[in-house]
Amino acid sequence: MKPQNKFQKQVVEASRTLPKLTKEQIQWGCENGIDHIGRRTDKGVITCTKCGHSWQGAGYLVATLTECKCPNCNTKLTVDTTKKRTFNARYYMTVVTAHAGYQVLRSVMLFCSVKVGETPKYDYSEVMQRWIAPNGKHCTFAKLRQTMGTCYYDAWIFHTDLELRTEKSNPYSECVYDRIFTGVVYPQQKLIPELKRTGYKKGLYGQKPLDLFRTLLTDSRAETLMKTGYTKLLKRIMDSGWKNIDKYWQSVRICIRNGYKINDATLWCDYIDNIRFFGKDLYNAKYVCPTDLKAEHDRYMLKKAKADAQAELKKQLEKDTVVKNNFFK
Ligand SMILES: [Zn+2]
Repeated sequence: MKPQNKFQKQVVEASRTLPKLTKEQIQWGCENGIDHIGRRTDKGVITCTKCGHSWQGAGYLVATLTECKCPNCNTKLTVDTTKKRTFNARYYMTVVTAHAGYQVLRSVMLFCSVKVGETPKYDYSEVMQRWIAPNGKHCTFAKLRQTMGTCYYDAWIFHTDLELRTEKSNPYSECVYDRIFTGVVYPQQKLIPELKRTGYKKGLYGQKPLDLFRTLLTDSRAETLMKTGYTKLLKRIMDSGWKNIDKYWQSVRICIRNGYKINDATLWCDYIDNIRFFGKDLYNAKYVCPTDLKAEHDRYMLKKAKADAQAELKKQLEKDTVVKNNFFK
């Protein structure tokens, strides 16, 4: 697609000078992003698909339940008892880099194909790039995907170019590029200064890099959570949808001011939801920072369950009254 606005024009311009992925990056991906198989025959002979070494393994249960390492190349193997002789697999790797003032996330698909007893063949293709400006705006470059006759959303057409693509076909559809696996993340990351300043230290906390980076760049509350070490809470709120931060922020600030540690973020959020329901003061450390969170949480859970049961009973009674009244009319 042609760039639609100034931002996209600038990114397209910047993308022309983005260096190619390096040999080191691809090699690291092949070594760390690929799940090698130990092919096991019915007789228990295991062949390492990485180096071709084979040996007589222990019984089926031992081989499948315990960790299997190749005695020759020391690679951790996933044991598969099968007659299959060829294995083909695809994996993702993400390279986090910076270019021309943008934060860039590069998605690489790694291929590994191997015949039992031979050395594996590796290949790769860069399939997607996400460009993030310091203000959190982003756009996506990708190869074309095959969409007809396949159930895969990432059936990339490898010979097509990485080009600027529309994120969504209509405002209600899901953005397919958001669903692409992160895979392994190349450990050397280049960051724009704006992202460095937010306190991001390579931990993704189970989030997609695009989501985490955009949240950090656009909402100083995320930065505060990161810098004050409330990363469990950051994860919990991002998991439930970042907009939920509005519901907790006033209480979070009280926690930070009082140096109150939140070890179980799910429990704490649950607890806050309950005391909000009972109209407690969400600015008051007495409520917001309980010494025994678990006990207070359970106490309010019980209270809430009783309140819910009572409300349900009342509703039922009202319904019955209506039915009766109609009956006697
Ligand atoms: Zn091996």
